[in-house]
Amino acid sequence: TPTVKKVKTIPKAQYGGRHTVTMLPGAGIGPELMSYVKEVFKYAGVPVDFEDVDIDPIADDNVDLDYAITSIRRNGVALKGNIETHSTEAGVMSRNVALRNELDLYVNVLHCVSYPGVNSRQKNIDIVIVRQNTEGEYSMLEHESVYGVVESMKVITSSNSERVARYAFEYAKRNGRKKVTTVHKANIMKLSDGLFLETSRRVAKNYPDIIHNDMIIDNCCMQLVSNPHQFDVVLTTNLYGAIVSNVVCGLLGGAGLLAGKNYGDHYTVFEPGTRNTGTSIAGKNVANPIAMLNAAVDMLRHLGHKHYASIIQNAINKTINQGIHTRDLGGSATSREVVDNILKHIKIATTTENFY
Ligand code: ATP
Repeated sequence: TPTVKKVKTIPKAQYGGRHTVTMLPGAGIGPELMSYVKEVFKYAGVPVDFEDVDIDPIADDNVDLDYAITSIRRNGVALKGNIETHSTEAGVMSRNVALRNELDLYVNVLHCVSYPGVNSRQKNIDIVIVRQNTEGEYSMLEHESVYGVVESMKVITSSNSERVARYAFEYAKRNGRKKVTTVHKANIMKLSDGLFLETSRRVAKNYPDIIHNDMIIDNCCMQLVSNPHQFDVVLTTNLYGAIVSNVVCGLLGGAGLLAGKNYGDHYTVFEPGTRNTGTSIAGKNVANPIAMLNAAVDMLRHLGHKHYASIIQNAINKTINQGIHTRDLGGSATSREVVDNILKHIKIATTTENFY
């Protein structure tokens, strides 16, 4: 039986009844999406304060990133846009990857549920993607051994494979899920993906009530597009997780809807599910604000502010189901119009409930 380490829980920062959370707006549409989150929180009277940390994308040093990591260590929780790293030099790490690795955020969870009000390619989807978040192809160990030959290391460890597998099966057990599918390419990458698959099979033995099967990544992409309802919980490695997440988000309505969570034993970072920068649509009042607002709602639940979370969640759902959609969902509403409609529903809910 795999051993379960006892983890010391670090308390989340709270002063005078208010939580403090690190906010990393990042680049592209990040800052405008964060301003909507702040507006919605203020309107709903949410007792959360943000510590804003901007990261200069062209800085050669990592002073800003180090500060961001210190801030998350202090607050325990962060809301994040996509951070840019303006360098293609070998040895310069993506700051998004560096942040996840430094904080040991070893699992990414993306709950993909269809919105009935969105005209999507597939209907009634409910898939949870549990992705290893700190190793695999993202170990960033690349070099040009001789001119014209580049080598890139994919690192799979049994300890991280076990932690993420255990998370997936525990998630399934706690949430009444029936099946976990391990997605891999162990037929070709026999040692690395082989270890990931074997570890998940070993962990599965501890969960006899949950069905466990496995699927090759290429077949999984085809099956997701043609027959997605066969999937329940998907457990996969880092790069396959990025691909599968984007496929499912595409089926449900694109980059602007769903939110993802990055968990470690001590810290949690919330962000839009497909982690896009949206550089080309920044500042045009067209970005869909929903994914970041959903990330903020997840964060409120995590902090224990369930009441505020459901008020904002209901306002978001009503806005989507009313057909007030930005153009990525086939609508013509601006970001501002979507946010205003959400504020309107928050006002109705807080007035009728006599919440204050
Ligand atoms: P880049 O660094 O060039 O921005 P990226 O990998 O971050 O690249 P994007 O191009 O930003 O990816 O995003 C992929 C697609 O999703 C783009 O067409 C972008 O406009 C769209 N997109 C991302 N986020 C949103 C959003 N919130 N609302 C609407 N469209 C979005």
